[in-house]
Amino acid sequence: MTLEGKLLIGQQAISGNQADIQAVNPATGKTLDPVYHGGGKAEVEQACELAEAAYATYRETSLEDRAVFLETIASEIEAIGEELTERGVAETGLPEARLQGERGRTCGQLRLFASVVRAGEWLDVRIDPALPDREPMPRVDLRQRHIGLGPVAVFGASNFPLAFSVAGGDTASALAAGCPVVVKGHSAHPGTSELVGRAIQRAVAKCNLPEGVFSLLFGSGKEIGQALVADPRIQAVGFTGSRSGGTALMATAQARPQPIPVYAEMSSINPVFLLPEALKARGKAIAEGFVGSLNMGAGQFCTNPGLVIGVKGADLDAFIDTAGEGVKGSAAQTMLTPGVHGAYNDGIGALANHPNVRNVARGQAGEGPNACQSGLFVASATDFLGDEALQAEVFGASSLVIECANVDEMQRVASQVEGQLTITLHMDDGDLATAKQLLPTLERKAGRILANGWPTGVEVCHAMVHGGPYPATSDSRTTSVGSAAIFRFLRPVCYQALPEGLLPEALRDGNPYGVSRLVDGKRE
Ligand code: NAP
Repeated sequence: MTLEGKLLIGQQAISGNQADIQAVNPATGKTLDPVYHGGGKAEVEQACELAEAAYATYRETSLEDRAVFLETIASEIEAIGEELTERGVAETGLPEARLQGERGRTCGQLRLFASVVRAGEWLDVRIDPALPDREPMPRVDLRQRHIGLGPVAVFGASNFPLAFSVAGGDTASALAAGCPVVVKGHSAHPGTSELVGRAIQRAVAKCNLPEGVFSLLFGSGKEIGQALVADPRIQAVGFTGSRSGGTALMATAQARPQPIPVYAEMSSINPVFLLPEALKARGKAIAEGFVGSLNMGAGQFCTNPGLVIGVKGADLDAFIDTAGEGVKGSAAQTMLTPGVHGAYNDGIGALANHPNVRNVARGQAGEGPNACQSGLFVASATDFLGDEALQAEVFGASSLVIECANVDEMQRVASQVEGQLTITLHMDDGDLATAKQLLPTLERKAGRILANGWPTGVEVCHAMVHGGPYPATSDSRTTSVGSAAIFRFLRPVCYQALPEGLLPEALRDGNPYGVSRLVDGKRE
């Protein structure tokens, strides 16, 4: 397909007249055609009007029709073929195999949400039948179900051009909830976004859905992104990116006459605690695993292990030596954008020049313009606890090891770290008591706690939590990965004493949807 460089609004493809967007191949520094003429308020207005018009019909689609729509999007994405992964490689510098894997994950995610929609548990049907003879007061008939919030704005992430972009987890879960979606495409991969956006457009047409179910906008975040979140028809926001971008959108959403929820996934350094017995027994193997996780995708994962905590001594020294050797041997990898590369170098520079930080190792220097040279640094727990700047996320393959005097100091570090997506424990049986002591603190800090693994590689499943207290996310009560992500875009409605003919189908007598229901407090 020839890319047209257009915004996709409903079934149309149009040009904006604001600042141009053009992708840059980060491996070569060369710009990639076509130019996307960015949209502004007029295009936001058009997309939101269509989304609002589509909402009434789309939110009442049958479970089967909505599930088929999600499956059709997946099939249409697969039908694009190699053009999608080739364009993705050119726009992100990520390897072909990664793009192929991400396409599988994206389509798997859409199909998972199709199965979730069909199962209907998300409706959370509750029925408390009338008790006319109850004393001292009769009870009226009360029935509850969940409905989609309304049109949702989704901001595609730079680091997952497929799985967290136009048809990624935010879009899939919002569509599953019955919400039309307006995507603000990431400016780093507009071609990949257009290809996927057109696949969704085709799925909308094939499934005979109202065109406003999906639109894709390009343009500057500060203009079109802000206008989108401020639009009164938008009812929730999904975002993955920087803390500054996420907090700016939160402020806009809160300042609206009608404030709306923003689900922003922003910043996490994913502490890894090396407990003493595990460090003593298998520190070398842990160090090798750590370097693998650190370097994965040039460290451009929100779950990258950016902080390692252990008790100072020979075992931690041996870990640092092995990890340092691994980092020194690490080949440079191309980063996503010149901006991400610049921010990484600034972060690494701040650590390297910090008076209380020891430079352990740097990876190999690369040839290309945006090569990530891995970095490993060490600081004492006392210095870490006394300097908030040492907690700053360095997005890329950089990690800071914290030397603690003892296990109690590890506990103090755990208490002081900001909210995180993940916290990892490396532990053996002999560490169980220490781990038990840490666990209540870790639960307060992170959305996912792992033992003897690495935080990179997030499974898309029912039990996953990819969330956590601020600044990991803007709302710790939910997840942006896995089937529970659908709950971000739903709200309950209670129907009191409505006649059968007025009730939504899912709530009618005889359970026409065949979904699990809580009737008079009992699961049926
Ligand atoms: P970003 O700068 O936050 O941009 C993400 C999206 O939000 C883009 O579409 C951007 O629009 C928009 N945006 C940014 N600031 C905005 C604002 N004030 N108002 C409205 N929209 C706004 O993130 P990025 O480009 O992906 O990467 C930059 C940095 O973010 C990285 O260096 C890294 O530190 C961090 N990051 C973190 C994670 C994570 O998961 N923890 C993931 C990715 C990036 P434009 O098109 O105008 O840029």
